Amino acid sequence: MTYDTSNIFAKMLRGEIPCNKVYEDTFALAFHDIAPAAPVHILVIPKGEYRNFAEFSTHATPEMLQGFFVSIEKIAAQQKLNDYRLISNNGAGVGQSVQHFHVHILAGKPMGKLLP
Ligand code: 5GP
Repeated sequence: MTYDTSNIFAKMLRGEIPCNKVYEDTFALAFHDIAPAAPVHILVIPKGEYRNFAEFSTHATPEMLQGFFVSIEKIAAQQKLNDYRLISNNGAGVGQSVQHFHVHILAGKPMGKLLP
């Protein structure tokens, strides 16, 4: 399997379709989820062709790995989030629906246990 450059997040990265952007730097682009599961629901995606966490963690450079994960904390600080949950679905079997690695930032309400 190869990276499909027609996925929706790739189109956002190329600027072909708009996104409700909240943050961008050298490593990452972040925007509001179109179907928020919490009062704050932001998606953070790396600027590169990685289908999932497995590919990102094994193929991204150390600079990209650090820059991407630091960007998440920068977004949390920018959004003034003290408490937040990070989720990343790796594979269709656990619900990954867009084949470009992404991290969900969820906040703004009590979330209880990890899984319902
Ligand atoms: P996954 O299910 O792969 O973990 O997360 C994909 C997320 O992308 C979902 O939460 C879904 O609502 C969001 N999403 C899908 N299409 C779009 C879109 O066109 N724009 C935005 N902003 N979010 C999208």
